[in-house]
Amino acid sequence: MNLTRFAPTPNGPLHLGHFFNLMVIHALSEKYQLKKVLRAENRDPQRCSGENLRALDSCLSQLEELGSFPIRLKNQSERTDRYAYVAKILQTKNLLFACTCSRKQLQNHVENQTTAVCTACKRKNLPLEAKDVRWRFSAGFGSVADGVLIRNKDKIFSFEFTSIVDDYDDKITHVIRGADLKPLQIKLGTLRKAVFPDAPELKYFYHPVLYENKSQKLSKSKDSSSLARMLETGWTIDLLIGYCGFLLGYQNTLQKRSLSWWVVNGPQKLLQ
Ligand SMILES: [Zn+2]
Repeated sequence: MNLTRFAPTPNGPLHLGHFFNLMVIHALSEKYQLKKVLRAENRDPQRCSGENLRALDSCLSQLEELGSFPIRLKNQSERTDRYAYVAKILQTKNLLFACTCSRKQLQNHVENQTTAVCTACKRKNLPLEAKDVRWRFSAGFGSVADGVLIRNKDKIFSFEFTSIVDDYDDKITHVIRGADLKPLQIKLGTLRKAVFPDAPELKYFYHPVLYENKSQKLSKSKDSSSLARMLETGWTIDLLIGYCGFLLGYQNTLQKRSLSWWVVNGPQKLLQ
């Protein structure tokens, strides 16, 4: 069975960018007969409160078919033991190292485009249980996966690592996400193969990121509206679909569009 997932990080309310991601997931699921599953990526308890999780469920329940997920996977907060177990396996295979780089040092690595990220940390071979260290993936010199963050200083497993473990365990086959994450694909694919050598290839689909004005991605813009608030103030599902279509240039005016219109017309243009 082919599976795709909606995997929001509930560190704030869902916004229009999430709504559009749901539109694409729905349309491609219809087109390719994928089963949709839901996973809340709430691995950081400080930023993703129980209240946010409840708000996520409440918002999805108002989105009719778009928010309907008959299969709900475990939230990331319930899977810390599993991540620790996989990390332990990496440790026994000598695929982890402890990093003490400051934020500034890391920034310099990036600016200088140093390929040998944290070579000095790797050489020091500090114990992984030392205080205030990050865990990084240790791949061969020159590998794009070398130095990928596995666990941060606060002992929270990284997005890169948890999404790889989850997608493998949950047998996800299709990943549908915004094009802003495309630069990570090779890195994540290399890490996936290194962590799970028997992992099948994932199919990726990247959709445009919505902008309300040209320079600001919706999720980052200050006035990015919470979906729950938009629904409260009279926006309907059809109007939201039409608005996304308008922002993407499917139509020149803001007008209501049905989900079935989107399912027929959406993928055509997106897949061009
Ligand atoms: Zn380092």
